[in-house]
Amino acid sequence: MGRAFVYVILGGGVAAGYAALEFTRRGVPPGELCIISEEPVAPYERPALSKGFLLPESPARLPSFHTCVGANEERLTPKWYKEHGIELVLGTRVKSVDVRRKKLLTATGETISYKILLIATGARALKLEEFGLNGSEAENVCYLRDLADANGLVNAMQSCAGRNAVVIGGGYIGMECAASLAINKINVTMVFPEVHCMARLFTPKIASYYEEYYQSKGVKFIKGTVLSSFEFDSSGQVTAVNLRDGSRLPADLVVVGIGIRPNTSLFEGQLTLDKGGIKVNGKLQTSIDSVYAVGDVAAFPVKLFGETRRLEHVDSARKSAKHAVAAIMEPEKSGEFDYLPFFYSRVFGLSWQFYGDNVGEAVHFGDFSGTTFGAYWISKGHLIGSFLEGGTKEEYEAIATATRLKPPVEDLVELEQQGLNFALTV
Ligand code: FAD
Repeated sequence: MGRAFVYVILGGGVAAGYAALEFTRRGVPPGELCIISEEPVAPYERPALSKGFLLPESPARLPSFHTCVGANEERLTPKWYKEHGIELVLGTRVKSVDVRRKKLLTATGETISYKILLIATGARALKLEEFGLNGSEAENVCYLRDLADANGLVNAMQSCAGRNAVVIGGGYIGMECAASLAINKINVTMVFPEVHCMARLFTPKIASYYEEYYQSKGVKFIKGTVLSSFEFDSSGQVTAVNLRDGSRLPADLVVVGIGIRPNTSLFEGQLTLDKGGIKVNGKLQTSIDSVYAVGDVAAFPVKLFGETRRLEHVDSARKSAKHAVAAIMEPEKSGEFDYLPFFYSRVFGLSWQFYGDNVGEAVHFGDFSGTTFGAYWISKGHLIGSFLEGGTKEEYEAIATATRLKPPVEDLVELEQQGLNFALTV
């Protein structure tokens, strides 16, 4: 025996919340939609976990950051799902899916069948063990992907004021955690193998701005090397970090942010995969008609670049979810997903946004010794990417619009001189 729904969303993260909102806006009748999530709470805005959640004063706590809190959206509390007749199956891992029979099996032994499945399983944090190291089991070694991780980090931080933390990884999780730890008066050293932070996105010039800012807040950087081992005390807590370059750092807390891996394993051998994720078309539909995939797990065609990409950012999760539901509910009216890649971060009092792609030649503009500066990326004579720190709402909108238009750029020196004005007048 099992339950049957018309629509099942597998995964209860950001994409699931935005998909649920869109289903209700398109009039899904009560009782037809079910969300199954391994997490024990209703979908929430995951980015809050490395920002407001870690603040020493008035930290963000649920229910304040359930999806879809934010500009002009509703906050979807458990009560909201109930009122809309959406079944929330929480704290429940899906163990297997049979996409031909349209059934899934939960770890609690229940079979749930569907007509349409929306995969929103996101991704998981890569563990040190996957790189041949150990130590993840220690209580003071933290990852940050879900609420349980964030609670663990908050607990570990509480006994750490004035003591030493080592952040492994120089991507945005590492950067945001390092900032939060410093705000909590913990001495932070960041360790990563690249020559500068945020190596996948930042130019050396942009990175040096943030690194200097972090240093002014007491954060130290050790670059060009990686973790080689931990030292433990008799209770299994890490006490020091040894690096491949021979250095040793005393550590009361370690935060590991070394990347993520999309949760595709339930579908390997059943659906076509690409770019490490589940391949979908412009309607977010997988290689099986009744199955859609959205968010971090989906590899979708980015029209603007004419290629398939898998993006690991919250805006893409929100918008892909919305588009997939439109395609499911009103297939004849919905077009192809036409997405402008967008990524943002906030650390200390800083805040940046990035649109498009960061290939080709980078042209910096603005005042790198002040508060507002940025960069454009030019490829094949066209603007294809824009980064801006410290912009106003209008300025961010302008760089987004300009990037989408891909205007021709002939003279890079002139572009540098025009700076933000180029986007504002395009
Ligand atoms: P998720 O939100 O990860 O949700 C996946 C859900 O699926 C989870 O609930 C998981 O438990 C569930 N699940 C997986 N497998 C199963 C299974 N077998 N059975 C049942 N349930 C399952 N992006 C930005 O652009 N800017 C930011 O500043 C930013 N900050 C971030 C900070 C943190 C700490 C993290 C972790 C991410 C951040 N992101 C940010 C990225 C953003 O949160 C993700 O892109 C977004 O959450 C992806 O949404 P999703 O729904 O695809 O996946």
